[in-house]
Amino acid sequence: MTELPSRSVAVVLGTRPEIIKLAGTVRLLGDAARVIYTGQHYDPELSGVFFDEFGMHRPDVHIGIGAERRGTQIGRATAGLDELFSQDRPLAVVVQGDTNTVAAGALAANATGIPLVHVEAGLRSFDRRMPEEHNRVITDHLSDRCLAATAANRENLLAERIDDERIVITGNTIVEAVQRLMPEPEVRRETLSRFGVEPNRFVLSTFHRPENVDDPANLSAILDQLASIPLPVILPLHPRTVRRIEEFDMGTALSSLVVVDPVGYRDFLALGSEAALLISDSGGVQEEVSVYKRPLIVVRRSTERPEVLGTFAELVDPGPAIGATANDWLGDLEQLHRGLSQLPSPYGDSTAPQSTVDAIVEAVHA
Ligand code: UDP
Repeated sequence: MTELPSRSVAVVLGTRPEIIKLAGTVRLLGDAARVIYTGQHYDPELSGVFFDEFGMHRPDVHIGIGAERRGTQIGRATAGLDELFSQDRPLAVVVQGDTNTVAAGALAANATGIPLVHVEAGLRSFDRRMPEEHNRVITDHLSDRCLAATAANRENLLAERIDDERIVITGNTIVEAVQRLMPEPEVRRETLSRFGVEPNRFVLSTFHRPENVDDPANLSAILDQLASIPLPVILPLHPRTVRRIEEFDMGTALSSLVVVDPVGYRDFLALGSEAALLISDSGGVQEEVSVYKRPLIVVRRSTERPEVLGTFAELVDPGPAIGATANDWLGDLEQLHRGLSQLPSPYGDSTAPQSTVDAIVEAVHA
């Protein structure tokens, strides 16, 4: 617990990965945390269940920006946060990652002159087509404390002339989240039998990035590739992907896949850690596999997490490379798993939430 006054640190979040990655910090802040939820993810299976699983109290404030265009989301959230911060001024504002919520939290903190702390600073895909890249750059440049997960993330910030005094290397808070919520082996076995699969005899897959699912050719290629894999493929469908599959009338492409609603974090960890391999366009999953040591095919044009490439992950285009890489890995799975089990995660250990709280306290007293 900190010496900070009650509800004095505004923790702004709006999506599933932000809840997962800030839960440990919110726990350590205790009574000092004021959790503000923008509602960027408004589906209960992407938000509410995660507050419950992490034992986090429900948000103190809910802004409710909903599914709008990017500019509208950022505008509404910025205006809402600006009003909240002006009425009841926090001592610091904390944001995590690269969503529209993060950009809005940064702009509102800046507009009201409140110290801003960015968790997971310094990630760069160098791909200006991704809205997330712009959210990261805006936020890092406005932040008083940039909490970099790795030394390479710090280098990215220094290359943009962000002052070293503003940068702290903390590791990534995902490591603590995975370690805290990873179910015991017995529970993992129960989870697998609930999904009708056996250890190392299935693939876990997720897709939701606009570059993949908003483009009919890419989405169709991805679904065809998943269907070609000679193991059951569990596909928890993100609401955005569901909408696109309906819009493009691609429902029949799902027939040979194990399609399920998004699952809770414990179930996702149980499945991921027992899968033969994973195939995903998620950012967080790229980090998690390095903690539970499973190989991942990243279906993206670029990644802001190069630390895992060539070891835990491989970057492929949406097309035949997905099936080819999966088949290649399945050819000698035991050896691949054995090799990965020896490798440390590049994202540090479980101390990142404590380092985050230390940096928040420092920002308040600066
Ligand atoms: N996740 C989950 N249930 C699912 C799919 C994903 O708990 O059905 C978790 C996953 O472990 C990861 C996070 O959600 O920590 C990733 O969220 P998402 O892919 O939406 O965001 P990104 O990481 O790409 O920003």
